[in-house]
Amino acid sequence: MIPMTTTEGGKRSARQTRAMQAFPTAETADALATFPDNAALDLRTRFRTSLRMLASTVALVTSAHDNRRGGMTATAACSLSVDPPLMIVCVNRRSRTHGFMRDSDRFCINYLGTQHGELARLFARQLEDSEGKFSIGSWGISAFGNPILLDSLATIECGVHRRLDEGTHSVFIGTVLDAATRRDCDPLVYVQGGFARLAGAN
Ligand SMILES: Cc1cc2nc3c(=O)[nH]c(=O)nc-3n(C[C@H](O)[C@H](O)[C@H](O)COP(=O)(O)OP(=O)(O)OC[C@H]3O[C@@H](n4cnc5c(N)ncnc54)[C@H](O)[C@@H]3O)c2cc1C
Repeated sequence: MIPMTTTEGGKRSARQTRAMQAFPTAETADALATFPDNAALDLRTRFRTSLRMLASTVALVTSAHDNRRGGMTATAACSLSVDPPLMIVCVNRRSRTHGFMRDSDRFCINYLGTQHGELARLFARQLEDSEGKFSIGSWGISAFGNPILLDSLATIECGVHRRLDEGTHSVFIGTVLDAATRRDCDPLVYVQGGFARLAGAN
């Protein structure tokens, strides 16, 4: 059975404690016990290992301020609401891209295709000068002033609606200013610590 612990130092609410007393049922406990690797790991490791199993489309989140461009590879970029159209991006506060997004109040999410592996690796690097990230790829500047990858799968441009600081990251909630499907190609996916392409689904 997986030990029901909170994160180190985390506190349980009364509701969580009541829920833990009622669950798991005997059947669930038996089923969970069939994953012996989990039982030996602490919550932090189980959490990180679980996240590795999630496949996400890779994006480059870009922004510009004071005639400078910045951007980063990101998988924590997804839709929040269709009406009104809102997106969420979770960004490490120590990254330079965070500073660009905070200072300019806008950003662009450029979703990548399988041909963009080199770009994904470059934008995940910590460079002396963030301009160096734009040394490869087909880049333009949008009407909103964001760096935009012209041959991306899709681009979604946002104005910062709200920023919430949690843990090491900020959650940027963006109001969608423009969206475009650009190229009919397979999405670049990140799963289990590596880039991958979809094998097809039914
Ligand atoms: C597939 C994939 C998905 C990713 N998804 C996300 C995501 O959703 N959100 C996210 O925030 N990141 C994500 N990253 C990581 C991100 O792409 C990289 O951190 C990238 O280098 C950020 O670029 P930057 O120019 O904005 O920041 P950089 O200036 O390159 O900083 C990058 C990181 O380096 C460290 N750093 C910066 N300055 C210092 C310093 N002075 N001393 C010590 N360390 C320092 C910090 O941890 C900082 O976050 C992802 C990476 C990959 C490969």
